[in-house]
Amino acid sequence: MQYISTRGSAPALDFEGATLAGLASDGGLYVPESWPHFTRDEIAEMRGLPYHELAARVMAPFVEGSLTREELERLCHTVYGDFGHKAVTPLVQMDQTHWLLELFHGPTLAFKDVALQLLGHLFETFLKRRDERLTIVGATSGDTGSAAINAVAGRDRVEIFMLHPEGRVSEVQRRQMTTVRAPNVHNLAIEGSFDDAQRHVKRMFGDPDVNMVVNLGAVNSINWARLMAQVVYYFYAGLQLGAPERAAAYSVPTGNFGDVFAGYVAAKMGLPVERLIVATNINDILHRALKDGDYSAGEVTPTHTPSMDIQVSSNFERLLFDCGGRDGAAMSAQMTGFETTRAMQLTNSQRKNAAALFTSASATPEATARAVQWAHRNTGQVIDPHTGVGLHASLSLAERQEIARGVPIVTLATAHPAKFRDAVERAVGVRSGLPTRVGDLFGREERCTHISGDYEAARDFVLENAVGRLDTAAA
Ligand SMILES: *Cc1c(COP(=O)(O)O)cnc(C)c1O
Repeated sequence: MQYISTRGSAPALDFEGATLAGLASDGGLYVPESWPHFTRDEIAEMRGLPYHELAARVMAPFVEGSLTREELERLCHTVYGDFGHKAVTPLVQMDQTHWLLELFHGPTLAFKDVALQLLGHLFETFLKRRDERLTIVGATSGDTGSAAINAVAGRDRVEIFMLHPEGRVSEVQRRQMTTVRAPNVHNLAIEGSFDDAQRHVKRMFGDPDVNMVVNLGAVNSINWARLMAQVVYYFYAGLQLGAPERAAAYSVPTGNFGDVFAGYVAAKMGLPVERLIVATNINDILHRALKDGDYSAGEVTPTHTPSMDIQVSSNFERLLFDCGGRDGAAMSAQMTGFETTRAMQLTNSQRKNAAALFTSASATPEATARAVQWAHRNTGQVIDPHTGVGLHASLSLAERQEIARGVPIVTLATAHPAKFRDAVERAVGVRSGLPTRVGDLFGREERCTHISGDYEAARDFVLENAVGRLDTAAA
């Protein structure tokens, strides 16, 4: 499989190249040059497969030419054999209509482990093959950072610099990053918002002073391999709910648009999908874009769902590219305009094609708390607030019959409630205990460097502390 950039001018790469590159050199994002498609019979044959076998089937077309079938199967077996639940992403019924897809059974308690644990192994495999090193620079609103650090800590050939907005991540999230002792892990707390951190990271990718010194890699969901790994659990849930004969709707707590884009890919590959519900908190740029075609970024308002406190959703570009006829030159012009004015209008074809599958809903903090309470009252289950945003969207669309009766609605449970236990406790009065697999998180010493919000401060820290320098590299 070859990968092309959404902005049309970077060279096409194979899966290995796209995984190591992260962002394309023209500033675009890599997407497969065409969508693989499974027939109904092929999907029917996937029923009942254990997660790791299903993962290998679903991902096989994407890695063709870079991993053999045996290598892929071995990787999936290793990665998904290590989760805290045997089913990896268990599907739990809430009532006649509503289901929860629990994606938080990985080591750092958020769905990002599902993809990042795989990405850590992919980096190791490809870097060894090439005899290269990779310097990962990432921005996090909390969960990507902890999952990425866990996935690469202590690995040869990879070092990681993770920027998080100071004071805007939960204590569990922060400790999951700052208590990791491996020497290849660097935590930077920067003044400002997640969007500021993400902007610095994007700028480093385009900065020749950085690229001359280190071989940069990305773990944010701009990295295609992450989205690919997330396609699997849509199939996993869909098959249990009757695919290929019956379609389900999926409600996805959304920030950077990676997780819900994976649902779009699953639909392109032949999984029957009734609707994809983009659930946002009050930072609702995506809701406005899908409803009115108005994609204009405002200021970020901090909420109790910090992993969704985002104004600019990187992966939305992938959807606009695909829905707008895959015209790289037009996409490049549209995004350049957006980067200057922080606003753009979707074209008619982008709006029409997105509307065929996507619905959106935004949740206030009060509505989110009510959804968390609804789950607790009706099922006894304690859910985290991000999941609460998704459940609010599911409940309100079902109530307004915007999703037809009889269609199962799956809310993606993106984080374990213990990760956001203060907000959960406020909503339902129950304090969620940390699962034993996270260990002695509160007894360990923290390590973190505090820097100002300037781009130069972040860049200079990376350049001064990177070990994998191209100018001194032995290999
Ligand atoms: C990252 C994250 C999200 C948002 O996912 P995107 O792929 O960025 O849209 C939602 N909930 C939780 C708990 C997260 O960690």
